[in-house]
Amino acid sequence: MKYFVSPYNKEAKIEFPKNITIYDTTLRDGEQTPGVCFSGDNKLEIAIELDKLKLPQIEAGFPIVSNQEKEAIKTITKQGLNAQILSLARTKKEDIDAALSCDVDGIITFMGTSDIHLEHKMNIGRQEALNICMKAIEYAKDHGLFVAFSAEDATRSDLDFLKRIYKKAEEYGVDRVHIADTVGAISPQGMNFLVTELKKHLKTQIAVHCHDDFGLAVPNSIAGILAGATAVSTTVNGIGERAGNTSLEELIMSLKFIYGLDLGFKIKNIQNLSQLVSKHTSIDIPKNKAIVGDNVFRHESGIHVDAVIEEPLTYEPYLPELVGQRRKLILGKHSGCRAVKAKLNECGFKVTEDELCHIVEEVKKTREEGTYINDKVFIDIIKHCKLADI
Ligand code: MN
Repeated sequence: MKYFVSPYNKEAKIEFPKNITIYDTTLRDGEQTPGVCFSGDNKLEIAIELDKLKLPQIEAGFPIVSNQEKEAIKTITKQGLNAQILSLARTKKEDIDAALSCDVDGIITFMGTSDIHLEHKMNIGRQEALNICMKAIEYAKDHGLFVAFSAEDATRSDLDFLKRIYKKAEEYGVDRVHIADTVGAISPQGMNFLVTELKKHLKTQIAVHCHDDFGLAVPNSIAGILAGATAVSTTVNGIGERAGNTSLEELIMSLKFIYGLDLGFKIKNIQNLSQLVSKHTSIDIPKNKAIVGDNVFRHESGIHVDAVIEEPLTYEPYLPELVGQRRKLILGKHSGCRAVKAKLNECGFKVTEDELCHIVEEVKKTREEGTYINDKVFIDIIKHCKLADI
């Protein structure tokens, strides 16, 4: 497939870990977006689409929250998807029992490890927190689960304590440790440092769970894997608590087209999945949202439209069809003859050169007077200009 990768990327020596797991949390952290509540059917529909995209792990929810949540997760685990189904659990026996009752493959159990969380949320000391976590890990492992231990607010936690608690978790047989950048408070350089430091002390797989409070969730996630983390948490459309999480579509498309790392996802389904999540969350996708926004393959300026008609990759980094998007030429105050001519062909009209010039002028004027040039407005302009000339 024809697409553009910057030649500079080929010069840069970038090495990724061998196996990278994307675990999607649209159905858990995504559902914690203020105002969002999925029905069981919504969850199942999204889980099936995530599975079609070839996501290896899906975090389906937080079973202790309600009976309806439990039922929704059970329905997903019964579906027999290829993806492993995980769910969230506090470090409490009742939470792990709730997960077990849903027949999930694994859990992500979490504890705030920063002093601010320990003091103001848990009201316990570091040693007590560590003991509680180990008990939970032991209990979950004894019941045959895949167990990920997530240090909540890890990026604002004392590094020595973080090393100690992850190391202990490793000794208790945890399958993966998660660095949760709970308030999106780290930089790519900071993430690189943190993962590199932790890797000196741990053999266990490391995952990163990033938030987008400063717009750095995707770069922080990439920095994490470049430093050796082997799992990344994502959500469709980047939804999630506050500013949201690492956007699934931005991460996998950046990895594939900028870094040349193809993780084997069925990217053609991206647009469908994005629309489905938008529908079930009632959250509109911003027009300029990377990858899935309406404007990503729309061109209006005369210079751009002319070039794109000749060769789309002049002003597109990859072709829209690859992600199930469509290119659209928009007429407006910046439109030139070529764009208008292309649009006339699209609508099935033939005009003389004089008529074309007249239509171009009319399009510019109409837009500057405040009317958006949709297809109906354009056809009215054509009729008006042709009639005027007859
Ligand atoms: Mn989170």
